[in-house]
Amino acid sequence: MPDLQQFRMTIDGRAAGSETFTVLDPATEQPWAEVPAATQSEVDAAFAAADAAFAGWAADDDARRAALRRAAEKVGVHLDELAGLLVREQGKPYADALGEAQGTVGWIQWFAEVEVPKSEVVTPGEVLQVRFPLGVVAGITPWNYPLIQSAWKFAPALRAGNTVVLKPSPYTPVATLRLGELLAEVLPPGVLNVVSGGDAVGVAMTTHPTTAMVSFTGSTAAGKSVAAAVAPDLKRVTLELGGNDPAILLDDVDVDAIAEPLFWGAFTNNGQVCGVAKRVYVPAALHDRVADALARVAESVAVGAGSEDGVRLGPINNRPQYERVNGLLEDAVAAGATVRSGGKQVGEAGYFLTPTILTDVAAGAAIVEEEQFGPVLPLVAYDDLDAVVAEVNASKFGLGGSVWSADANRALGVGRRLRVGTVYINGHAINHGPHVPFGGARWSGIGVENGLAGLEEYTQRQIIYGNGADL
Ligand code: NAD
Repeated sequence: MPDLQQFRMTIDGRAAGSETFTVLDPATEQPWAEVPAATQSEVDAAFAAADAAFAGWAADDDARRAALRRAAEKVGVHLDELAGLLVREQGKPYADALGEAQGTVGWIQWFAEVEVPKSEVVTPGEVLQVRFPLGVVAGITPWNYPLIQSAWKFAPALRAGNTVVLKPSPYTPVATLRLGELLAEVLPPGVLNVVSGGDAVGVAMTTHPTTAMVSFTGSTAAGKSVAAAVAPDLKRVTLELGGNDPAILLDDVDVDAIAEPLFWGAFTNNGQVCGVAKRVYVPAALHDRVADALARVAESVAVGAGSEDGVRLGPINNRPQYERVNGLLEDAVAAGATVRSGGKQVGEAGYFLTPTILTDVAAGAAIVEEEQFGPVLPLVAYDDLDAVVAEVNASKFGLGGSVWSADANRALGVGRRLRVGTVYINGHAINHGPHVPFGGARWSGIGVENGLAGLEEYTQRQIIYGNGADL
């Protein structure tokens, strides 16, 4: 086996880890890093450290702001290093990885600087609302955006006065472990602990008696397990889960103008984004033109290892996901779907699949009904817009949806009818930054991340009746 890079967990401000597992590079399928597989006693130690750090951390908001500013600065001087690790473990192109590392800084900065109201008057002179932190937060993240997803959790949780135990996905633990080491240099010990391991470590975190809240991002199936795991203790929980976002094209769209933004609204990060378009509803009269236009964009995109110059799409992150996406594609084709572009492996090794546009997909096909989370996009022709809206609203998924039209206000009229967490007009998976709340309806989640609303998820609201006291 080649020399593996070694990474450690951060527990109570110190390096930790006894047992290990290896991390594969999805572009080569070769192991390149060795990381800790947290044992139960290490998980216990992380929660004990977070618990011990809580009272001091919760006591001083100015100190928290200052510490988060130092954290943003620290990440900012390690952007290239963190981006390189992301490319290696996640597969994404370097430019995208750098963007993710920069976004991580931006998120930490925003939560450091945001003005958090100390209290709100409910009845003048009589009733006041305040908020207090919950305690130790368990943050659990997926493998598509490991670094920024971690910041979505620890930055608001810490600013609100909680302490954190964070666990990245076993497919992409490395950049987050390195982040833990870097932040241990600027945060008090125990405030942010980073542990790594498989799903069982996640279970140990959600059921841990010290955990006050679980902030979970991942699949809907795992999210339901988390909801069940926190129920006996009524732990607080936010769940950011799967999506199956529709992009609905109206009959007046300018096909050539929308092809490029629609393509990237679906294929960003190789389609491995909760909130990208995962099915496109096209007026029957425009169907072939839209399919051709999307296929042209797809064929112009360079696919390869994220470390290669000019590559826009890397490999799928891991073998189970690669097999799942290929399986959905094969099932659709066996049932009569047409591959308009892509559908091909690239090179000898690695989980590559060229961006695939599918048409003539059978009604009820899994590729339309379920979340594919990969570079295969089905087009569904429609005649009846009301039926499309009804179908979207009947879906168990409700993360987001977009409507595309030459008349933005006409699109908005349709968009307002969608029962989803985010509506986009003439775009998809747009993200204006940390101040915008994000969350899903139905099986796409509970609660929101980002913005003040996201920070408030990490607090308990308290109403105080003063009865003559100075409020
Ligand atoms: P996953 O659910 O398999 O794993 C996510 C994390 O949860 C990992 O760290 C994993 O180890 C842990 N985990 C798994 N089972 C657990 C359990 N029972 N208890 C506690 N922890 C557990 O998801 P994934 O495959 O890593 O990520 C892809 C999924 O994440 C997709 O469905 C995607 O839509 C979703 N996602 C959602 C959002 C959002 O904001 N809504 C963002 C990104 C990804």
